[in-house]
Amino acid sequence: MEIPGLGTYINRMNELSASPPDTLTSLIGMDRAELARAVEAIGEPEKSAILRAKQLWHWIYHHGVDDFSHMTSLNGALRDALAASYTLERPKITREQKSQDGTRKWLLRFADGQEAESVFIPEEDRGALCMSSQVGCTLTCRFCHTGTQRLVRNLDAREIISQFMVARDAYGEWPSPRDGRMISNIVMMGMGEPLFNYDNVAKAMHIAMDPEGLSISRRRITLSTAGVAPLIERCGAELGVGLAISLHAVTDDLRDELMPINRKYPLAQLLDACRRYPSASNARRITFEYVMLKGINDSRADAKALVRLIAGIPAKINLIPFNAWPGAPYECSEPDVIAEFARIVNKAGYSSPVRTPRGRDILAACGQLRSESVRLPRAARLSKPGPAAAPPVALT
Ligand code: SAH
Repeated sequence: MEIPGLGTYINRMNELSASPPDTLTSLIGMDRAELARAVEAIGEPEKSAILRAKQLWHWIYHHGVDDFSHMTSLNGALRDALAASYTLERPKITREQKSQDGTRKWLLRFADGQEAESVFIPEEDRGALCMSSQVGCTLTCRFCHTGTQRLVRNLDAREIISQFMVARDAYGEWPSPRDGRMISNIVMMGMGEPLFNYDNVAKAMHIAMDPEGLSISRRRITLSTAGVAPLIERCGAELGVGLAISLHAVTDDLRDELMPINRKYPLAQLLDACRRYPSASNARRITFEYVMLKGINDSRADAKALVRLIAGIPAKINLIPFNAWPGAPYECSEPDVIAEFARIVNKAGYSSPVRTPRGRDILAACGQLRSESVRLPRAARLSKPGPAAAPPVALT
């Protein structure tokens, strides 16, 4: 009897058992103290470990080398010992796509086979790398494709910062250039809710910001949250990066429906956290993202209510035309409706750019990310061959 999907399932199982064991520990994602411990663990005396960690840091995050033999400031014996126990390998690029508008999307596979996407959005002479913080997302915002992905886990700091390193590899921007970088900014706006994975995201951002390494200034990093109010303050105090809030609705009733997280942290609590965000009192404004959904949240009354809601917060409103995905329950507002909304917000003194959708043709635009391998945890995979072998959700 032919069991649908069984062939693919068996192939997949064979592939899994044939993969070589991941025995080498990666040094990517380690901070200086961890690097020092890692060199001590392979016999480096404690007194020189800190210096070695500094050198390693420079090779890994400034030069971007992925081979210990290139670390010419370390002696040969140490390079060999490092290579015997550690790796600097990047996650595998399972697919790379380039949009007609130059946007690039990488699907990356991590050591356990889970996958996540990152997207580079180029401007003329610079650009932002949109990085993921989780595989999938638990938020289930109704307009977002990522929220329909079943399997979710946090990415660790290594997996988060590796996305940046892969992109830099692709653009050949090593050693970390001072000026004229294409990959000039980071936006934590990919798959996942970064504040549900705060520790790993924070560790990765500290690595990204370190001036002796990747050297992306905190002013060039923006973290976007659906509104995990209690962690917003901590994010401001510890990271000081730019804050973006996915607002999308101006009443609790509608926001509860569009974004279930609002039931836990309603608008008043969210806006209170924004008012206390450190950058709000400095020159940096908070970005409020507002997806334009036809007939749902795009009226003139909504625009006016939005202005009242954020009164007193130094802010910029990013209007995002809704990006459709297969089976999406919404449509994008008409261009003249978006323009009118923008005009009202702008007249109230807020910058209100309408975000040009980028990479729509490769499903790389906001809310379209979703890795193909919607895979179940191992136990479930073994007992339910169907879902594990299901064909990928269309990305192109
Ligand atoms: N969880 C975080 C990070 C994801 S950022 C957050 O919610 O902010 C992704 C941004 O794209 C968010 O503002 C999200 O609300 C928005 N978005 C999701 N689906 C979208 C869609 N289909 N069209 C346009 N924007 C969308």
